[in-house]
Amino acid sequence: MGWDLRPLVGLLLGVAACSGPEALRADQLARSDAGGATGSDAGGSPLPEGPVAQSGITPGGFQSDDWDASLSGDANAEAGLPQRIGGDAAWTNAVPSGMPQVVNNGGPTVTSPVFQSVTFANYDQTTAVDDFISRVGLTSYWLHAVGEYGVGLARAATPVHISGGAPQNIDDAQLQVWLANELTSGTTLEPPESGTVYVIFYPYSTSVTFDGQQSCFTMGAYHNSTVVNGINVSYAVVPECTTDTMTDWQTTTVAASHEMIEAATDPLPLTATPGYSGVDPAHLYYPLVLGGGEVADLCAQWPASFFVPDDLPYTVQRTWSNAAASAGRDPCQPELDGETFFNAVPILADTVHVGSATPLQTTVGAFIAPGTSKVIDVVLYSEADVGPWAVSAVSVPIGGSNLSFAWDRTTGNNGDTLHLTITMNYAESSYGGEPFLIESTLAGETNYWLGYVGQ
Ligand SMILES: [Zn+2]
Repeated sequence: MGWDLRPLVGLLLGVAACSGPEALRADQLARSDAGGATGSDAGGSPLPEGPVAQSGITPGGFQSDDWDASLSGDANAEAGLPQRIGGDAAWTNAVPSGMPQVVNNGGPTVTSPVFQSVTFANYDQTTAVDDFISRVGLTSYWLHAVGEYGVGLARAATPVHISGGAPQNIDDAQLQVWLANELTSGTTLEPPESGTVYVIFYPYSTSVTFDGQQSCFTMGAYHNSTVVNGINVSYAVVPECTTDTMTDWQTTTVAASHEMIEAATDPLPLTATPGYSGVDPAHLYYPLVLGGGEVADLCAQWPASFFVPDDLPYTVQRTWSNAAASAGRDPCQPELDGETFFNAVPILADTVHVGSATPLQTTVGAFIAPGTSKVIDVVLYSEADVGPWAVSAVSVPIGGSNLSFAWDRTTGNNGDTLHLTITMNYAESSYGGEPFLIESTLAGETNYWLGYVGQ
């Protein structure tokens, strides 16, 4: 879903999710002009109005000779991960084991999606939206975002242009009634077939609500499903919104890409059979802090996640890759042109509580009682030799003072272990504990990793 004003407040603009309140908005992270967003202006916006970063992949580039099997081996090649050019064959990426993984809950994914754009007479971007929908599912960007989750190329059905205007207000429950009427009347929408996802765009003048969230205020966009005549019908809803960090059109295409990816990898998100949704038990704070646990949610808070692919002239969002995370590559794929990923991971080993569910859930973090401290290891890793980079830690919510940090040193290289003393000053407990952010910075590029303190 969309902008959740809780925690990472201050981090990016997020967009869209699906089944829970989602974080979005990150004005503070913009200060760091994170990775790959070339040409950011001095205002610190992570997304300049022009093309943002370029991906390193080329159309059809899965088998091209820019693969460097020495970097990650056959397993990653099989996972469809693009490889960088010119890697060092002798390099050993020091990535720790046990990186976060999005889990498959046993529900379906959409192996051959068919997207149908739906717009109303009072929507001002119909032509552009139709072009975007017709192209995005046929790009290498799309395959790199969803391929490892069993989703293939997506085609577009003939766009639907509703002759009337969109309503001023619509709740998701009303939208489902409208959708069922359209489908059963047979007058406009393509009948639901295997893999069809309706992508419904609303103009500025329409306020959409979903699960108590309001479009453009607490939610950027969402996807959901309903049942019409016994058939599951999956759809995405993309309201037109203004954000601080992107143009309105960029906001629309970013949100649409986010929801389309999640509708394909988790088409029945709020049913008893979700697909890829949620993170492994050792990292339950990830979806809480990032505003959702679907594959696009886990990348929606980082400025560098919004980019213009080589084979699609629109700004879209990068997506979490389990395989890339485990291989020590950028978990948000596809990687950007020229990117050599580097990061720092806190090594956590204690069982701690997280969230507010009853009974309390447990996850893996650092057990630190209020008023006390603990030293944890932070392991640095990189895809190739990038030289030493700077590492720092901050509390989440950003700018909070519930945690204090002291390092034995604040720079290091791939394979180094730094020692971070964390003091828990007081219990803030937005998440049932105290998340923190590890920042790795080099030459104006910053990568992030989450950690968690609890009891
Ligand atoms: Zn999402």
